[in-house]
Amino acid sequence: MPYTKKEEAERQRIYRKANPKATAETQHRNYLKRSSRPSVVARQKELDKKRYHERKLRVITYYSKGDIKCNCCDESLYSFLTIDHINGRKEFGHSRTISGGRLYEWIVKNDFPDGFQILCYNCNCGKRDYGECPHQATR
Ligand SMILES: [Zn+2]
Ligand SMILES: [Zn+2]
Repeated sequence: MPYTKKEEAERQRIYRKANPKATAETQHRNYLKRSSRPSVVARQKELDKKRYHERKLRVITYYSKGDIKCNCCDESLYSFLTIDHINGRKEFGHSRTISGGRLYEWIVKNDFPDGFQILCYNCNCGKRDYGECPHQATR
């Protein structure tokens, strides 16, 4: 004999009450389904970006000591600035994968240790490829 809508709802209510674990699992599955939706993924990306920029600003501000610019060429455009391991990555045991957002995260977590400076992207690459930035040789 078919259930009416009301009976069906009541039956489900009783089932959920009697099976809280299965209900929680279903809810979790639905949550996962929701969190892979494009709108949710896009929102997560937005949040990640926001967190990245907040961290970068904190780190750059800390190591700038009040003067936000490249330690080598005086570039002061914030978007071009990065953080450089003054004595190389080995000092902190950092592999190449700890860079950009992960490096900012690491610095914040480790309470802003000494051994970092602000370099612009150009000077950072110059120092990485030549041992010191080519600007220094022309001085
Ligand atoms: Zn520079
Ligand atoms: Zn330079």
